[in-house]
Amino acid sequence: DVPVAEVAAKPAKTLPDAQTVTAVRHWNDRLFSFRVTRPASLRFRSGEFVMIGLPGDNGKPILRAYSIASPAWDDELEFYSIKVPDGPLTSKLQNIRPGDEIILRPKPVGTLVLDALLPGKRLWFLATGTGIAPFASLMREPESYERFEQVIMMHTCRTADELNYGRELVENLRNDPLLGELYGEEFTSRLLYYPTTTRETTPFMGRITDNLTSGKVFADLGLPPMDAANDRAMICGSLAFNTDVKTVLEGFGLREGANSEPKEFVVEKAFVGDGI
Ligand code: FAD
Repeated sequence: DVPVAEVAAKPAKTLPDAQTVTAVRHWNDRLFSFRVTRPASLRFRSGEFVMIGLPGDNGKPILRAYSIASPAWDDELEFYSIKVPDGPLTSKLQNIRPGDEIILRPKPVGTLVLDALLPGKRLWFLATGTGIAPFASLMREPESYERFEQVIMMHTCRTADELNYGRELVENLRNDPLLGELYGEEFTSRLLYYPTTTRETTPFMGRITDNLTSGKVFADLGLPPMDAANDRAMICGSLAFNTDVKTVLEGFGLREGANSEPKEFVVEKAFVGDGI
């Protein structure tokens, strides 16, 4: 039995919809990830987003949309965030520490869910920058591998250090006990990872659109070109990125779907605006 004094010593939740930060990791001066407690009542589908925030100076909460980067089965919630120097939320949010509270509105929504796609053979995740967040959830979701023979994560950033969150996640997944138990050695070929940079010179470079249209990514991974019968995709990046990729996928014969009408691909903005 827990002594009464210990229960009483627990800090009272001060914010409405408060959740407690359990871990914070800074990847560089522009990116960080953090984990918070999960409300017992929160059910979501891997790939969805919620509104999170902090109280503003006038007491009114500053809330922003954030993809849940952890899978639906996880006890905690993970987020992967940009640090916008003068951003109303992230200029403050980047200072959170374990034990602090954030606001989390428990109403998950979003288009990047497996139910919005028709069955297929390969599932492509196409992301720039923090657009990898919903796929950090879906890559850790066993259902992605139950529904598709292969999952391919294409992530593009300007510099190599901006890829590190995704790179580490994929490496950890290859040693994941749950997926290892389900797929064993075979898992390495079930999740393919294709990180590229656009500014810094690295072994793999180039924009996702260029690597798809030139056929380079198919050649590098030993896959046939995309087609409507076998390939499904989810896109998450800036508005310009999303529009460009959408045109490329339509060129391969894929059509945009939605929760209410599953087709071959779905799209979601990683943020509103031109990006920084
Ligand atoms: P804001 O005033 O919101 O933005 C200031 C400027 O920064 C704008 O010009 C904007 O275009 C740019 N910007 C904002 N977010 C980003 C970003 N992620 N990458 C590059 N430039 C950006 N942000 C995350 O960091 N992680 C997420 O998982 C995430 N998921 C989102 C899901 C959806 C559906 C949407 C619409 C947005 C998402 N965002 C995400 C963006 C997020 O809602 C905020 O815009 C971001 O946290 C910055 O908030 P802010 O108040 O500091 O600055």
